[in-house]
Amino acid sequence: MNVQTPSEKLVKPFDCQHYINGRYFPSEKGSTFDNINPATQEIIGSVAEGGKKEVDLAVAAARRALNGRWKNMTADERIRIIRKVGDIILERKDELARLETLDTGKPLSLSSTLDIPRAAFNFHFFADFMRGAGTEAYQTDDLAINYAIRRPVGVVGLINPWNLPLLLLTWKLAPCLAAGNTAVIKPAELTPMTATLLGEICHDAGMPDGVVNIVHGFGPDSAGAALSEHPDVDAISFTGETTTGKVIMEAASKTLKKLSFELGGKNPNIIFADADMDEAVSTSLKSSFVNQGEVCMSGSRIYVEREAYDEFLNKFVEKTKKLKVGDPFDPDTNIGALISSEHTERVMNYIELAKREGGNILTGGKRPEGQESGCFLEPTIITGLSRNSRLIKEEIFGPVVTVIPFDDEEEVIAQANDTHYGLSATLWTNDLRRAHRVAGQIESGMVWVNSWFLRDLRTPFGGMKQSGLGREGGIHSLEFFSELTNICIKL
Ligand code: ADP
Repeated sequence: MNVQTPSEKLVKPFDCQHYINGRYFPSEKGSTFDNINPATQEIIGSVAEGGKKEVDLAVAAARRALNGRWKNMTADERIRIIRKVGDIILERKDELARLETLDTGKPLSLSSTLDIPRAAFNFHFFADFMRGAGTEAYQTDDLAINYAIRRPVGVVGLINPWNLPLLLLTWKLAPCLAAGNTAVIKPAELTPMTATLLGEICHDAGMPDGVVNIVHGFGPDSAGAALSEHPDVDAISFTGETTTGKVIMEAASKTLKKLSFELGGKNPNIIFADADMDEAVSTSLKSSFVNQGEVCMSGSRIYVEREAYDEFLNKFVEKTKKLKVGDPFDPDTNIGALISSEHTERVMNYIELAKREGGNILTGGKRPEGQESGCFLEPTIITGLSRNSRLIKEEIFGPVVTVIPFDDEEEVIAQANDTHYGLSATLWTNDLRRAHRVAGQIESGMVWVNSWFLRDLRTPFGGMKQSGLGREGGIHSLEFFSELTNICIKL
């Protein structure tokens, strides 16, 4: 195999190779696929296409590191390296933000203020959190004492989506490493760049070879499938579509891997008439359209109490019309490009369906004029659809929201829960009792009251129903990424 050192890697165009055992590699057979900038549809580099062979090499490297240098370090040494990864991400934040924007089409104003700083914070947070984490101990009368010790799960596969590439990858990788595991990462095929650079960053932070490995490729019959069925992988943390989660679960069942899934959502955004309407409007603008609506927590089903329906809708439509769609590198841009032409087509199909179903498109519903060469779509607000419309039931994952009026609390709770998803919800009300009452009845892993995406990394993050399996964040991440052994000593 052709060996390249990490520093030789940064040539233009950006060609993404696998990072295995501390070195960059092409695929064994030299196979690659194109990486396309969704804002221009230009090829911005090639991506090595990995499969079983590359996953085997990466898993073997991760296993050696797990039982070798990573295990033999003190916890302090490991934590110092993990923190250093966060430091280097901050030092290189401009370069990383640029790559993230090239790869995803999201505005640079977002990648530079959210994706990349949060990626660094993930390492800093979990390094610190690990220092303070204890375990449990119980005394059984005067018969025995029990205490639990924590150890790594082993080699963990981290399979990632394209919407928040480095943010979500590091949200898994940082606690995975902090708990003493080693990792094989499968970045999304559409967004391989920042993950590739992370290899070099880990190397520069002093991470021993083999602790972090990155294999590029696709899902089915490719690197993703090879990782999820690999007999020497102990656990998989996956973020992506619910349908993909089901396939991974089946593959992982053969060796009963531990699983953590963060899947799709069709999240209700419920606005009661007593809410602060201006705040509800401006935050709903974010929960609807930030990151082009390509966010699993996006509040894509908006329910407004009838008394406030017209006021909300007028203000919401007016502000949405002012959002600027276009060049992700323009600092004034609010909405960049969607991830790919296939995905844009898929989102457009939902809009066509809404038209056929007699929905009213209050704004948007089309590609912006003069920008046909990129994957751009105007932010779209639709009313007048039936409760059973596919637009109300299915995750669109684009800048498209539906707005529906409601008359009472019970009715809106029933509508909010009428879905097989259960990731997040948002409530807008100034009635304290109602906020508590409704929040406790919404079937979702997270409920934001008078806010959205306000995150504290110690809190449980994840979904119920078909939106996920388990929770990550704070102690919940540590629980997933470690095994407990209870030691019982008879007195
Ligand atoms: P999307 O269609 O939005 O890209 P996916 O759930 O298909 O969402 O993809 C999320 C991640 O899961 C990607 O890294 C993708 O390559 C990977 N993936 C897709 N299918 C499989 C599969 N069958 N096994 C393992 N990984 C997969």
